[in-house]
Amino acid sequence: MLRYFLLFAILLTVLLEVTFYIVVSSTAEAQARVRISHAGNEVASLFYSPNNDFKISAEMREYRKEGINFYLLSEEGNIILPIGYEVDNDDISDLSVIISELDGVDEGGSVIFAENDSLVYAKRVPYAGQNTYITAYYSMRILKGSMRVMVLYLVIIGVIVLLVAGLISFSASQKLSDGLKNLSMTAVRFSKGDFDVNFANAEYQELADLSDTLNSVRDEVKKSEDFQREILANVSHDLKTPLTMIKAYASMIREISGDNPEKRDKHLQVIIDEADRLTGLVNDVLNVSKVTSNMDEINFKVFNLTEFLYGIINKFEYLQETQGYTFMVDIDANLYTRADEEKIGQVIYNLLGNAVNYTGEDKTVYISLKKDLQEDRIKLKIRDMGKGIAKDELAEIWNRYYRVKENHSRPVKGTGLGLNIVKIILKNHSFDFGADSELGKGSTFWIDFPAVPEEIENV
Ligand code: ADP
Repeated sequence: MLRYFLLFAILLTVLLEVTFYIVVSSTAEAQARVRISHAGNEVASLFYSPNNDFKISAEMREYRKEGINFYLLSEEGNIILPIGYEVDNDDISDLSVIISELDGVDEGGSVIFAENDSLVYAKRVPYAGQNTYITAYYSMRILKGSMRVMVLYLVIIGVIVLLVAGLISFSASQKLSDGLKNLSMTAVRFSKGDFDVNFANAEYQELADLSDTLNSVRDEVKKSEDFQREILANVSHDLKTPLTMIKAYASMIREISGDNPEKRDKHLQVIIDEADRLTGLVNDVLNVSKVTSNMDEINFKVFNLTEFLYGIINKFEYLQETQGYTFMVDIDANLYTRADEEKIGQVIYNLLGNAVNYTGEDKTVYISLKKDLQEDRIKLKIRDMGKGIAKDELAEIWNRYYRVKENHSRPVKGTGLGLNIVKIILKNHSFDFGADSELGKGSTFWIDFPAVPEEIENV
């Protein structure tokens, strides 16, 4: 990075300096041209009005003070003017050069050209009936000398700028790479499972932002680790209880109740119930990983939701017969929807299971499936009259492994995964869903299914 920065700085400095040089030198030359042309025309005009040689020479002398040397040359190339004072005439060009430069110029016109470090002005003027030439020389030597000094300064300034830029970029890149090294070392510790690391770097805003992001990633990973640990503890605890029960009752059958059919049946029923509970737990754990892994695989098809719902309710029939549960249904006939049948089955099964688990003394679950004519929606509501869910917990229940704390001692064991499965599946379908609940009054879980006409082809 440092190398690129320096290369860029060198390029920029050279470019700026060259541009500066070109602009300054061309401006200076243009100004010199304007000046010599103005002076030349002034002096030339003296020849068109009655003036004597001394007056013209005096005028030429004035311009000599400004560095412009005037001469009036005869056709043979001799100096006619100025007179009355000594001049050194080293700068005078060959007359042939002047004549060739003036070639093609209109009568009364002038030329300016560069020759031997000088700008030369030339014009034909009438003098005592002869063909004469007024010439002016403006030496560019001083200007070129100044330009040389300026180039030297530019080079010195350029070097200083590059040195300063190099120093600044070196220290900046050093700080940046130190910061990055720090971050990567912390990340290595983090990857080895040290969740107490802190990604700290406030030197650069971008690095500080990156550190913040990494810190929040660390928090999330830590949270999920804690969750995993908690669920493992929960699941193993929940698995242990039915296993202990199964073992205890099996021993009891062998040792005590084997010959007593009534007792034996009772004990066998406990074993069957506990085995069911185990199956439920294992299914929940399996389902959540399955649902999460094939997130996008939704096999949409049109099916009869009414019949499908009745089918699931029938699976809970044993609860009505053996444990006195009541299912109050209000279901419209022949409602069709388009969804993934198997996954929706899982959703309804989970919601019904929860309603059964958490319903109150009345052991009643209310199920309604109604078509909303205006919106072309079918609303499924599963309601229980149980203890309900507190407002601040209502949003949390959809999260993985979330279980309302005091429910740990409830008779039906759960993993806290059921509603998370429901959420993932319904979100993948883009269906609206939710839960309304009031503590002590029960809860209603609802889903909006799209209503489709029966005759729509399956795609
Ligand atoms: P669990 O296996 O614990 O039932 P869920 O994901 O199905 O897990 O539910 C998460 C939590 O939401 C439950 O532990 C329970 O506290 C609460 N919950 C779910 N359904 C109901 C309900 N119908 N009434 C009261 N609380 C409920």
